[in-house]
Amino acid sequence: MSAEFLTILGSTGSIGEQTLQTLKLLPGEWCVNFLTTNSRIDILERQAREFKPQGVAIADADAYRQFKKNTSFKGEILCGNEGIAAVAADSKNTILVSALVGFAGAMPTLAAIRAGYVRRIALANKESLVSAGCIIMPEARKKQIEILPIDSEHSAILQCLRGEDYEEVEKIILTASGGPFRERPAETFGAIRPEDALRHPTWNMGAKITIDSSTLMNKGFEVIEAFWLFDFPPEKIDVIIHPQSIVHSLVQFRDGSMKAQLGAPDMRVPIAHALAYPSHVTSDFPRLNLLENHELKFYAPDYDKFPCLRHAYYCLEKGGTYSAVLNAANEIAAQLFLENKIRFTDIPRLISEAVEPHNSIENPSIEDITEIDSATREIILKTEAR
Ligand code: NDP
Ligand code: MG
Repeated sequence: MSAEFLTILGSTGSIGEQTLQTLKLLPGEWCVNFLTTNSRIDILERQAREFKPQGVAIADADAYRQFKKNTSFKGEILCGNEGIAAVAADSKNTILVSALVGFAGAMPTLAAIRAGYVRRIALANKESLVSAGCIIMPEARKKQIEILPIDSEHSAILQCLRGEDYEEVEKIILTASGGPFRERPAETFGAIRPEDALRHPTWNMGAKITIDSSTLMNKGFEVIEAFWLFDFPPEKIDVIIHPQSIVHSLVQFRDGSMKAQLGAPDMRVPIAHALAYPSHVTSDFPRLNLLENHELKFYAPDYDKFPCLRHAYYCLEKGGTYSAVLNAANEIAAQLFLENKIRFTDIPRLISEAVEPHNSIENPSIEDITEIDSATREIILKTEAR
């Protein structure tokens, strides 16, 4: 087996760090080609020392200057969005881990596809599919580049569908922990503070996805992600609340039979699977002991309490550029909430106000999507400044 050359977009984040941790488990030879960060150059420095990549890219200009001045790293050092896109498209890459957060991940992911060197993209950056799935998926297919999910639910679905005939699938069912406010009365949602929302009951993740999990926007995004990855229509994609996060998702077949994938909640498992697919690698990750008193509970989602989930289905059904608006509106709303500038209940309201009047473009280009993304951000920021 020839060596794999891996570039990790967002190596300093939660998924990026866990990806580096899993590398030593993978069979064969793995070379780290490029690592990237926005501004956490202290983590990048440590990673560069340990994994000796060919180069690094730093999005933030100040952080880039500081890194360049102080580092002992001898490889290439690139800067800005162009630098990130360039390393994504590097001709040595065989696998790209797309783990930036937000729409910022879309252009470099697309750059890798368009360059055509990678054979696989292990995709954590679900926002790129939410906004630009209509560009990313067909272009990847044309170039015969596999897009494999780094998301526990989609990794579960991938495993449940393996060897199955898609025609025989009745529906796929994505599980959701329900987030920290599942049992909290809706009347008190206005008083939720960022620090409350950042306390996720089962997963330890970056700040933005943790906020998205608390509003169930993350699950809405995952419905859209499943649509693009597995090509099932929205009516065949269900969401069910499962607070224990042990059943990672399920597939139901036309004879009523169901397949589920279970395991301890640990992102290193889906990461390793996306990198080594179709292999399951040998690891000492925590095992799920079924003899321990595990309660498996399932509930219907409450769409009135968590309107973001409804917004996601709405945008997916409408098609065109609706989901790009959904993503941009959510990104800004989540950021404003984290900065204590709006209330928790303003997040779904701002999204709805952005989505409702949208004039969709049926077959958008990536330039259309980028324009809509920027315009939506501006509108929301202006609305809130008033
Ligand atoms: P983090 O916030 O922990 O990490 C994000 C990474 O992207 C960091 O390296 C960050 O740099 C970098 N970054 C952020 N903004 C930019 C930018 N504008 N330009 C360039 N680089 C940038 O996020 P997570 O690792 O939690 O999530 C990454 C993606 O994976 C998200 O799309 C999320 O939805 C998805 N995901 C995450 C899961 C998890 O368990 N964490 C589970 C399933 C999916 P810096 O370090 O400088 O901030
Ligand atoms: Mg998930």
